[in-house]
Amino acid sequence: MGAWVRRFTEGSAAERSLLGGKGANLAEMTRLGLPVPPGFTVTTDACRYYFDHDQSMPDGLWDEVREAVAAIETQVGRRFGDASEPLLVSVRSGAKFSMPGMMDTILNLGLTQQSLAGFGAIAGEWFVLDSYRRFLHMFGHVALDIPDEAFEQVLERERELAGVHLEQHLTIEQMHTVVEGYRAVYPAHGVEFPDDPWEQLRLAVLAVFRSWNTERAIVYRDAEGIPHDLGTAANVQAMVFGNLGASSATGVAFTRNPSTGEPGLFGEFLANAQGEDIVAGIRTPRPIVEMARDPDFVQAYKDLTAVARKLECHYHDMQDLEFTIERGVLYMLQTRSGKRTADAAARIAVDLVAEGLIDKSTAVSRVSPAQIERLLHPTIDEESKLQVLATGLPASPGAVSGQVVFTQEEAVAQSRDGIKVILVRPETSADDFPGINAAVGVLTARGGMTSHAAVVARGMGKPAVTGVSILEIDVASGHASTGAEVFDRGDILTIDGATGRVIRGTAPTRRAELEAPHIASLLSWADSERRLAVRANADTPEDARRARSFGAEGIGLCRTEHMFFGEERLPIMRSMILAENDAVRARALARLERFQEDDFYGIFEAMDGFPVTIRTVDPPLHEFLPRDAPEVAELAGQLGIEPDALRDRIEAMSETNPMLGLRGVRVGVLWPEVTRMQARAIVRAACRWADQGGTALPEIMIPLVGVPEELKRQRAVVEEAAEEVFTEMRRRVPVKIGTMIEVPRAALVADEIAEHAAFFSFGTNDLTQMTMALSRDDAGSFLPTYVERGILPADPFQTIDQAGVGQLVQIGLSRGRMRRPEMSFGICGEHGGDPASIAFFHRIGLDYVSCSPYRVPVARMAAAHAAMGQFEFDR
Ligand code: ADP
Ligand code: MG
Ligand code: MG
Repeated sequence: MGAWVRRFTEGSAAERSLLGGKGANLAEMTRLGLPVPPGFTVTTDACRYYFDHDQSMPDGLWDEVREAVAAIETQVGRRFGDASEPLLVSVRSGAKFSMPGMMDTILNLGLTQQSLAGFGAIAGEWFVLDSYRRFLHMFGHVALDIPDEAFEQVLERERELAGVHLEQHLTIEQMHTVVEGYRAVYPAHGVEFPDDPWEQLRLAVLAVFRSWNTERAIVYRDAEGIPHDLGTAANVQAMVFGNLGASSATGVAFTRNPSTGEPGLFGEFLANAQGEDIVAGIRTPRPIVEMARDPDFVQAYKDLTAVARKLECHYHDMQDLEFTIERGVLYMLQTRSGKRTADAAARIAVDLVAEGLIDKSTAVSRVSPAQIERLLHPTIDEESKLQVLATGLPASPGAVSGQVVFTQEEAVAQSRDGIKVILVRPETSADDFPGINAAVGVLTARGGMTSHAAVVARGMGKPAVTGVSILEIDVASGHASTGAEVFDRGDILTIDGATGRVIRGTAPTRRAELEAPHIASLLSWADSERRLAVRANADTPEDARRARSFGAEGIGLCRTEHMFFGEERLPIMRSMILAENDAVRARALARLERFQEDDFYGIFEAMDGFPVTIRTVDPPLHEFLPRDAPEVAELAGQLGIEPDALRDRIEAMSETNPMLGLRGVRVGVLWPEVTRMQARAIVRAACRWADQGGTALPEIMIPLVGVPEELKRQRAVVEEAAEEVFTEMRRRVPVKIGTMIEVPRAALVADEIAEHAAFFSFGTNDLTQMTMALSRDDAGSFLPTYVERGILPADPFQTIDQAGVGQLVQIGLSRGRMRRPEMSFGICGEHGGDPASIAFFHRIGLDYVSCSPYRVPVARMAAAHAAMGQFEFDR
């Protein structure tokens, strides 16, 4: 084994860091005895050496390359640079993590003036000219930085002169003219085409190394979080030819459907074509199943099916394959674990368990919380009226609406201004990556299900529709037409990546429900991996039912203030707040109690047997009061007082800084009868549900406590109210009384607060606001800048600030638990649905997280991944 070069026969899949993913898997396939053309890998060590040593090659590398080429020559029986039977090779980049289309590959390397004739004698003159012009183009572009257009123009001109649409229809004479034209491109760009195969090989390997640091590769790595210092390997491999006539082809296939996960080969092939033709979108490839019915390819199809099965059994995962068929014979050129949609990831993981290829924990580890989130992405509401402009291929599922842009630059610029854009392109290439990254969805006129746009969008979980062939796009004028319909830059479109529809305007969407059985299985396996319980924040029986259907194990936060806003209730609430004496207030409270009791009853019913944490009224009271004059006048009439007097009273209640004013527990301290009313309603509802044979587990939570004495007094009020109800109802139910820890002081004196609490729930929204002196409502003017400039690593309202706010949670938890080990501890801020925050809460030992109903499945998966020590999804 050489220091810088590994033959395919010497490596294995375990050596991805050294050989790159492509090289490692080519070696692995070779070891498995699959039909892989022989070759070798120049390692990533050599690439790193190259960049660390002023772009020079390590000593000894070239000798190793020569030896390895000699080994290929022996195996295929042709010699590199030979005049009569030349060996041709491809030079292919391949880094540790797959970077589709990010780096460049050169095919047919080794063709020289001298070897052309000999090669032609074997394969036919037309074919040789075709291979040669491809090589001239790829080599000039990749190794010598000649723009693609220079070559494309030559071909275009010749096609026009000949009056043919496809180059396949050019005659041998015309192909000669093309080749001459291509050769002339080199001097026109001030460079020389090396007619020596070894010099070609040297320049090609260097070009692969350099491609690691192209702008688009760097953008891709930034977006995917791939380190910049890994380097790429360069693979040199004997060519096989998919362009040798009708029984030859090139193709790409997934061992299962990457959109839906359905078993069975899925992909495309293109007869009489080479390499990139299939993704370039110039000719439309055929679905792979057609191979089975085509006498030219039926055997290759059988072989491919067997190879696919073998590779899945070997890698225990769905594979993404590249292959070439030369005169009916199958050759494997690449395998890797296939990118897939969230839907497919779930389906495949579950199917592989059924097939005995992986166990349940592995299945869980294969689906990231982010993918679970995508599964809940909206779909188009089919009840609505839609204006469908065109239909293409359903390349990446999900429905999104946005403004049309036609270039990646526009996409990037517009999205910076916060505009949602749909990138519309004739087709995409690696150069469009920043635009795809910036857009909410992608629409292309050309290209199939495995085109660049489709693959990249699926990998990123972005909706895409490809191959809308009736679409004529004029990028320069910002205009597109389907013949019957037109749309322009800035128009709003909706694309539906599940059906391929392109719809004018913003189509109404519906959120998905978790009905698919494979998703249910996967989540139930996740449940047996996780330690954290997952509850939901839900304020209504309907939300509570939805939360249950998503697997919530209780309610972590039921806000009661929304219950006072109903049309019938708001006037009563207002009269309670503005009551002139206790008698008036008591009457209003009695009426509110009945409403509240019914609300809570429905929630206990929906959450039968699970704990329900109900927070007593929290916001500043003036939020319930009218603001404008007509409303004030109307309320004054209802209350039977003068409008002016009422206005004065409302004004007197106004506060300069209401979030730090009379709210939360402070209202209950001033007016214990409000807490008492809520406690009575909760306990009565619980008793009623118990009367029906149900199990209600109410947890009454006092918000904004900062001083232990506050909780002590409120608790006495609640306990007294509960006893009163127990007597009235002639039964008892278990009632827990606890508090929200959301004031920094509360976290610090948590041991004293614990004296009076049966549970803590960390309210990390307020805790973040108060710890960081950040108002959620006002931070918008500077917080994004902070994140952009790296002053803060993330929006602390989305992902918990572990070092600061997180430390307070830890302090509150440990002091509370020390004083009262039997207490339960949860969190109910937005962070309860954020995977990175959930990993933190798992680590510090909370008992549960609570989040919005739709995030419950995400939280279940995130809690499982946290418990499995898998915080980040493995690429
Ligand atoms: P990418 O990483 O962009 O997929 P590859 O190195 O896989 O680039 O090359 C792209 C395509 O070129 C392959 O899918 C295959 O069709 C073709 N190709 C590469 N090497 C060979 C070869 N030795 N023989 C025939 N075709 C090849
Ligand atoms: Mg490839
Ligand atoms: Mg709060």
